Amino acid sequence: MLLVKVLITGANRGLGLSLIETGLGKGYTMFAGVRSVADEDIAKLQKLKNEYEGQLRILHIDVTNEKTVRDASKAVAFTDQYVDVIINNAAILNEREKTIEDLDIHATMKAFDINTLGPLRVIKHFLPLIKHSSTYSVEENTAILNISSEAASLTNAYPGDYPYGMSKAALNMFTEKLRAYLREDKIFIASVHPGWMKTDMGGGNAPKDPAKTAKNIWSMIENPPELSDHCAFINDETLLMKI
Ligand code: NDP
Repeated sequence: MLLVKVLITGANRGLGLSLIETGLGKGYTMFAGVRSVADEDIAKLQKLKNEYEGQLRILHIDVTNEKTVRDASKAVAFTDQYVDVIINNAAILNEREKTIEDLDIHATMKAFDINTLGPLRVIKHFLPLIKHSSTYSVEENTAILNISSEAASLTNAYPGDYPYGMSKAALNMFTEKLRAYLREDKIFIASVHPGWMKTDMGGGNAPKDPAKTAKNIWSMIENPPELSDHCAFINDETLLMKI
């Protein structure tokens, strides 16, 4: 029986849900962080929970609300002791068509609150659990992935998507800081651009299936690539992204 335990935020739909589904299929224990635990918001997760008895735990994690993150980490520490993998996936893409002149600053702050500070809150409260995992000899699967976007590439800046691009660029910096902080630990840490996917965020014209991206991300976690000391911004096929 595999002992790998994985936390994913924004797990009720889109890429998050695909990552949960694929992880369950591999026999991993999955912690699905969700903003809302209302029945209609977690129906697909509830179905998976019945299908994969004992393998899936649904946790209320609104990444903008530190108390929910702290409570979730305490709940996991109490029952499961540790996590091997954390995937910061929850995000929003707002103010899409806005020019800088029209930009709503509160909406911009909301994007930072979810896309940048959300992962920060999650790592703040779950890092003690992931560090603990090294005592279980599963280091090779120990990972922290921040789901980023090519919209954050400084060398590929385009007009528009100000809140999203800026908040994901800041997320990439968080990834690099975390790598510096945890340099001595055997944890695979990276910012991952998952590609343009057919989800609520990506829309119906997107070329990529989130299930395929999820599969690629799992391969990356199971066989972590060597990354440059200075940049861990890669796509789901482990190609280095331009920072
Ligand atoms: P979706 O819009 O389909 O899903 C977003 C998820 O984030 C939902 O589960 C949503 O929950 C959750 N979420 C939003 N706000 C919060 C919050 N405050 N607390 C907790 N969860 C929250 O997005 P995708 O699946 O397409 O995107 C997944 C990741 O991939 C994101 O990080 C995105 O930026 C990135 N990405 C996506 C691309 C694409 O083409 N789709 C391209 C590049 C990057 P709820 O249902 O409750 O709102």
